[in-house]
Amino acid sequence: MNANPPQTPPGKSGFDLSPPSAQQRQALEADLSAEERRVLLNHGTEAAFCGGLLDNKEAGVYVCRLCGLPLFSAEAKFNSGTGWPSFTGPFAEGHLAWIADRSYGMERTEIRCGRCGSHQGHVFPDGPAPSRLRFCINSVSLQFVPKSQPLPDPLGRGDKL
Ligand SMILES: [Zn+2]
Repeated sequence: MNANPPQTPPGKSGFDLSPPSAQQRQALEADLSAEERRVLLNHGTEAAFCGGLLDNKEAGVYVCRLCGLPLFSAEAKFNSGTGWPSFTGPFAEGHLAWIADRSYGMERTEIRCGRCGSHQGHVFPDGPAPSRLRFCINSVSLQFVPKSQPLPDPLGRGDKL
């Protein structure tokens, strides 16, 4: 696995990347559906070709379903044919956390939200040029925000694009 995290320190995008308080986390988690809890909090994977964002081609950003941090821009989305929304790179450095995952006897790199730590999917070194990375992400882990609309701000941070 050659998928190494970016070397620049987090927080350069201007977004407040400090984690939610225990109280905020509790409130956000209470708002999740059973399927969202399974994927975001318990590292589940949604069924291929079933995710609601798989074929979305609108301009905008994909934010963390739990904390609202932008994780991917629509320009980075591509059709990988795998059945999961796929991206060539993160919205900004520090917005994703890269974790070695040796579950199921495989060497993979798990992707979590860089702010709240919720599970997003995995990154593989077989994507298109120039990054050669394929971020394979669950639709339920994300919320799509069309270009003309404001970002959700469940943590009250006031971050803007
Ligand atoms: Zn998050």
